[in-house]
Amino acid sequence: MSLVSVLLKPGEADRIVAGHPWIYSNSVLRLTAPVTDGDLVQVKDHRQRLLGTGFYNSRSKIVVRLLDRDRIEPNRSFFRQRIEAALAHRQRWMPGTTSYRLVNAESDFLSGLIVDRYDDVLVIQISSLGMELRKSTIVEVLKDLLDPRAILERSDTASRKFDGLAEAQGLIRGEPVGEIEVNLNGIRFLTNLAEGHKTGMYLDQQANYAAVGDLAKGAHEVLDCFSFAGGFALHAARAGARRVHALDQSADAMAMAQRNATANGLADRVEFETANVFDWLKARTAVGPSEKVIPRYDLIILDPPSFTRNRSSVPDALRGYKEIHLRALRLLKPGGLLSTFCCSHHVDRVLFEDVILAAAIDTRVILRRVASHSQSPDHPVVPSIPETEYLKGFTYERVA
Ligand code: SAH
Repeated sequence: MSLVSVLLKPGEADRIVAGHPWIYSNSVLRLTAPVTDGDLVQVKDHRQRLLGTGFYNSRSKIVVRLLDRDRIEPNRSFFRQRIEAALAHRQRWMPGTTSYRLVNAESDFLSGLIVDRYDDVLVIQISSLGMELRKSTIVEVLKDLLDPRAILERSDTASRKFDGLAEAQGLIRGEPVGEIEVNLNGIRFLTNLAEGHKTGMYLDQQANYAAVGDLAKGAHEVLDCFSFAGGFALHAARAGARRVHALDQSADAMAMAQRNATANGLADRVEFETANVFDWLKARTAVGPSEKVIPRYDLIILDPPSFTRNRSSVPDALRGYKEIHLRALRLLKPGGLLSTFCCSHHVDRVLFEDVILAAAIDTRVILRRVASHSQSPDHPVVPSIPETEYLKGFTYERVA
């Protein structure tokens, strides 16, 4: 079958040659024939050298999402190979885990497709037309490879509209699943995959839960801010922290976290409070001129949502990050630890640490970095595709 070629303008090929899979509409010189949206095309530079093949969609700003540098056929065996490779990566880097992101789109060279595995239940999320049209093939491959009890769809993300797709969710095959129990590092989490955030849980923090849990050994007082289902809080409690206080503005999340604490026999040590973290921290650090803030915590965890969706909101986001660090540092005991995360792609590691340092300077605190954190290995970073890296974090000791 001969493929239609998408020819790029001069100068537009370098990023693609370097491994980035997105062709923006403004890089395109011309098409060699009309193309139906969702079809496979080949992409060439202006000298007609092949750069790769991928799915075309005129409705998206990303008109082609490349799948490979060579010619491929996006058939069952193609998807099987890619998904097997993705599975092998998880088995290699996260041995023993039973819930993880099995396919992470660009990180696994399958732009537009996410598959999360929760034991024997799979949740897929499709964000491109090319993948949408091959959904049944993908589902067949997943069934063959993993024989899951159920495959659910959670394509209810706003980004689908950029590809001209309506939101979709529901059971694709297998038996209906309500609430299920997910095991992360030996801790049980109850989650409703049909209703939870993202595809149910924040799997990208799985490795960091374990790392921060280790740091909580021997801690007396721990504060987990933006706790959601209690991921960090429960790991800290299990590690032996005496008292853990967790905050989230979502009452539903705090109710779920409370049930998770009970399910793990940790309810006597963890307290969940529905509160806005900004207000809560402010109330505990705003004192009169002759009063002093008493630092109470041995470990504080900050894992806020992304305060920014785009570049233009970065300055506001930085103000938000600085504010919570300023206040958290005042509540941290000398010798205590601050584990802090940023899941915004637009705020990189350097910028994030700059904000933390600015807050430390304002609070007259010296920090010593004792650990660096990244997204769990089931969300692999491909440096030639900067968008694949978003979660970063640090743990600091408050020296003085
Ligand atoms: N630490 C969590 C993930 C946090 S996601 C985990 O590991 O699973 C961000 C959470 O912050 C969400 O649960 C959201 O409800 C909560 N949130 C957002 N803004 C908030 C605010 N201002 N105060 C308190 N919680 C907030």
